[in-house]
Amino acid sequence: MTTKLYWHDSHMTQFSAQVVACFVHHGDRVVVLDQSAFYPGGGGQPHDTGAINAARVLAVSLADHGCLLHHLEDDVPFKVGEAVACEVDWPRRLEMLQQHTGQHILSQAFWQLCGAETRGFRIFEQVAEIDLTLDGSPDALTAAIERAEELANAVVFDDRVVRLHTVTPAAAAQLPLRKESFSAECIRVVEIADFDWSPCGGTHAQHTGEVGLIAVRGWERAKRMTRVQFVCGTRALRDYRTANQTATSVACHLSVGRDEASEAVLRLLEEQKKLARRARALVELAAQAEAQALLDATPVAHGPRMIVRIFEDRDFDDVKLLAHRLVAYHGVLVLLVARTREMVRLVFARSADLPMDVNRLLQVACEKLGGRGGGKPDFAQGGGTRVAELERVISDAAASFTV
Ligand SMILES: [Zn+2]
Repeated sequence: MTTKLYWHDSHMTQFSAQVVACFVHHGDRVVVLDQSAFYPGGGGQPHDTGAINAARVLAVSLADHGCLLHHLEDDVPFKVGEAVACEVDWPRRLEMLQQHTGQHILSQAFWQLCGAETRGFRIFEQVAEIDLTLDGSPDALTAAIERAEELANAVVFDDRVVRLHTVTPAAAAQLPLRKESFSAECIRVVEIADFDWSPCGGTHAQHTGEVGLIAVRGWERAKRMTRVQFVCGTRALRDYRTANQTATSVACHLSVGRDEASEAVLRLLEEQKKLARRARALVELAAQAEAQALLDATPVAHGPRMIVRIFEDRDFDDVKLLAHRLVAYHGVLVLLVARTREMVRLVFARSADLPMDVNRLLQVACEKLGGRGGGKPDFAQGGGTRVAELERVISDAAASFTV
């Protein structure tokens, strides 16, 4: 069994130890020491990283028999009995103990204010989250979360001492523990002075001030509970910087102050909706006028009036709208094309009073263009990529129309 130095001192980062075993396990070079300050992970908190001599420790895990396994980056063998100098990565440990201790504080705040229990806790790369037995309307939940956040930060600003107690299960039963411990052996209780008592084996701050700001990032309903995402300490600072940069950048684009950015975006969206409505009305007017002009320019002949046009780099939706407006007149046949360098898109349509099947014609045309298309007997659309074939395909289609 490895002596767990982190158990009594969460701030120990440098220590010496003796190698007890060194072997390859599932492809990893693993070292076992007689004592270690590396936290193996557990209770929602990830493992530490660091170094043993010059070898990088990428992961630490706890074996069934109580041994800590240090997984190395490279296959560096150590001699059994060898004395080694070890170092735990402090920035990572600090970040983890801030989130972890922050969770103790936030969970107690929800318990005191709302009677909500914490049923789950996880630390991810960017945020940590707790699952709470908390329910209510979105407004009520938002208000409850804000109150818990305020109480949690008041406890941080008090800079209360965090104490560790190793107690028997009988002694633990006398303490106002937030969650039960089912251990039959001596358990470790983490006390946040005059606020929270929890059985826990993780690494913690020494004073609540060390946790830094506790900021709720968001919440959602999940598994009939309320899941609250939060960041503490160094993470809260990083998160604030990112949020501030985003807000400042948006405000800068809109030439307003940071705190006016949200209002300005709403105004912009409203304006954009109005412009879109106006643009749709203008496109409609233009399509009607263009349809009229095309019909005026087409000589009245015996039988249907045929309108064939190829448009360069034109929006296909506009071309389809034009086709619709043209076939709203009696006796009109339409072959319209939107062409780019890479592909052509076609719409074939006819007035309701004409009998021919433009869908069949369109499919023949699309096949020749190396593409596909479809629709109804009076209105069909499609396209293809053999742009060079277009003129011939169109003249073939026009010829079969007139038959
Ligand atoms: Zn803990």
